[in-house]
Amino acid sequence: MNSFDKWFLSSDSNGLENYHQFMTKTVKIVETHYQSLEKPYEHIGTEDIQKNIEKYVKFEYEGKSSDAVLTSLQHLVMDHSLHISHPAAMAHLHCPPMIPALAAEVIISALNQSMDSWDQSPVATYIEDGIIQEMIKEINYPQSASGVFTSGGTQSNYMALLLARNEYCAKNFSINVSKQGLPMEAKKLRIFCSEKAHFTVQQSAAQLGLGMDSVISIKTNERYEMCTDALYEEIAKVKQQGNLPFAVVATIGTTDFGSIDPLGEICKLTDRENIWLHADAAYGGALLFSNQHSHLLSHLKKADSITMDFHKWFYQPVSCGAFFVKNSSMFEHIQLHADYLNPEEDTHFHLVDRSIQTTKRFDALKVWLTFQAVGKQEFGEMIDYTIKTAKQTANYLQKRTDIEALNNPVMNAIVFRYQPKVIYMDDQKQRLYENDINQYIQQLLYEQGQLIMAKTKFEGKSYLKLTMLNPLITFDETVKRLDEVINLGKELEKKEERLRERSVIG
Ligand SMILES: *Cc1c(COP(=O)(O)O)cnc(C)c1O
Repeated sequence: MNSFDKWFLSSDSNGLENYHQFMTKTVKIVETHYQSLEKPYEHIGTEDIQKNIEKYVKFEYEGKSSDAVLTSLQHLVMDHSLHISHPAAMAHLHCPPMIPALAAEVIISALNQSMDSWDQSPVATYIEDGIIQEMIKEINYPQSASGVFTSGGTQSNYMALLLARNEYCAKNFSINVSKQGLPMEAKKLRIFCSEKAHFTVQQSAAQLGLGMDSVISIKTNERYEMCTDALYEEIAKVKQQGNLPFAVVATIGTTDFGSIDPLGEICKLTDRENIWLHADAAYGGALLFSNQHSHLLSHLKKADSITMDFHKWFYQPVSCGAFFVKNSSMFEHIQLHADYLNPEEDTHFHLVDRSIQTTKRFDALKVWLTFQAVGKQEFGEMIDYTIKTAKQTANYLQKRTDIEALNNPVMNAIVFRYQPKVIYMDDQKQRLYENDINQYIQQLLYEQGQLIMAKTKFEGKSYLKLTMLNPLITFDETVKRLDEVINLGKELEKKEERLRERSVIG
């Protein structure tokens, strides 16, 4: 051994000792932090962050002791990060990670398997496939189905449209897009999704050389679900214009409202028209495990491909997602063979054959450890509990006259706004005032670190959003927090009134 031994895991005691010290001290920092965590966020101004960056983010010539490094870590990272596990952090589809998954992260990084070729991850390759197979059973997909872990919904949606495009071009123009590039007709290809679909549908179209204009937005009904009639009409219109519909993206849990597009209806149309149906279940996929609401996903198996994010409602640390395809042969559209990795004559399978990534993390282990430890039943109970809490909260908001609630949640996202009493004669002014007051409430509570909400827009108006993913959120505490929102709105309104009076008198 040489003197580098303390930096690496080996059978040598110097390395093992250093690993033990670093890991125990780091775990201690996390524990101490959570012991004293009163609010989800301790605000820090950008100038102060910048000062910390200048102070701590410097490559030094010589290394420091683990204690010194970990103290810096505390000041730089822990003290002012957003703490997503806190029940008052309810902004985005951003989950508190479950403890078994955190333990899995220790193994994932220590073994540092790469999931591209079998020889680099002999057991892990089969575990990832095993988890994919378990999920395929839950979805009720046929035996022919396959899938792969991805970095998240963005990558999964991209893969869906990539496969759909290449399959369409192979079938209709006998063009192998991987080899020959896009056919002349590519300009005519069209994708359909609801106006509430995730922006990555447009992003994928842009990256696939089809352009964002190839995506046709379909209007939604009063529950924010894709209107099937409008989809029928738009597809007919597009065909009449001589353009080529090749994919429909149905959202199973829209990011803002958690609404579910009518897959059963949509697939009747896509079947008849031979259009690829992709289900973006990045958010809603976890409903498969719900004890009370899994029927909402009974048509999921009809989709040609599915996006599912484990780092949302499955409580896995970022990043952890999966992409599923009903017919595994579709992966041939992205297969390339490198002599050093996955030569054609190999008898083992290689996950790189299903992926657009090469070096890839063993994220499947987190899902494995979580399901082993928690079990399907308790996991399902968590999902149901969060839905119940969200429904109770929405009910509470709907009864208040000082709140406008936009949705009845089917999942656990609620969109609402504070409704001030002040009435301006000018509609434009009224709208601006209502937007300002809601944006201000969101920002102020964020800076106070009391309640972390998201903001969103609907028909040009600003709304507040709660994503109640965390099963530690209780209805009673949420009501208290929402009462703070309302009180803050009232206070701001009074200030505005005083200003107006003064300007009238003045
Ligand atoms: C979050 C989300 C995505 C994007 O997924 P990432 O994991 O953030 O890449 C796509 N679609 C829907 C419906 C989502 O909620």
